[in-house]
Amino acid sequence: MKCSVCGKDASNEVCNNCIKMEKILYQKEWSHKSGLLARNEDYRVAVSNLRISGRLSIGDNNKGLNTRIDNVSHYLLNVKEVSNNGKDLMISLEGGPENRYTRFLYLPGFAEGDQLIKAVMDAKEKAAALTERIRQSSGMAPASSAPSPAPAAPAPKPAAPAPAPAAPTAAAPAPAAAPTPAAPAAPAPSTTDTIALAGIAEDISEFETKIKKLKVLRDNGILSDAEYEAEKKKLVSIF
Ligand SMILES: [Zn+2]
Repeated sequence: MKCSVCGKDASNEVCNNCIKMEKILYQKEWSHKSGLLARNEDYRVAVSNLRISGRLSIGDNNKGLNTRIDNVSHYLLNVKEVSNNGKDLMISLEGGPENRYTRFLYLPGFAEGDQLIKAVMDAKEKAAALTERIRQSSGMAPASSAPSPAPAAPAPKPAAPAPAPAAPTAAAPAPAAAPTPAAPAAPAPSTTDTIALAGIAEDISEFETKIKKLKVLRDNGILSDAEYEAEKKKLVSIF
């Protein structure tokens, strides 16, 4: 399987490297009993800027037959439609050129269809933008479906201004990384998500700190421009 975002080999639709950029934007848990004799089942749906995931009813046909309840995780841009099949909210998925498939997720007894639809639409825009950024920084051609903003934009430079060339002690701790704009957490995220988000924030700030250090080295003439670019590429591939 190939990562739908960066195209590298992956064990899931979104590889472990790309998942580090994930931010949960919407999450909901609920319980539902499908019939008199059925037992109460717990369901969960989460929408991030890269995936739709959770514990849902899943099947291969759009009539809701032969479904099973399972943990799911799909690349968000593979969501083709969120609709109501008259009974349950249904999410249609269709894989891209990397991984071809058709699948349907069902959310029995889900009460916030409108909110979920809006969350998916908003998150898809973010997923498209983030995918472009990751593909550009890994030197991939932009997705043909999305219009590329600036033609032939050079590798995105970190937005943070270069710190003033102070004493060239490379080991000096760089100033605290610029706060990454935290996504306006929709409904209060559960503790596990908070922990996951903290981990992501840590990764990002570590990355930014390292980039800043490289810049200081370059600004002080310790690294040539070419060396700086090479080191930066290495960093991008690690994170
Ligand atoms: Zn990836």
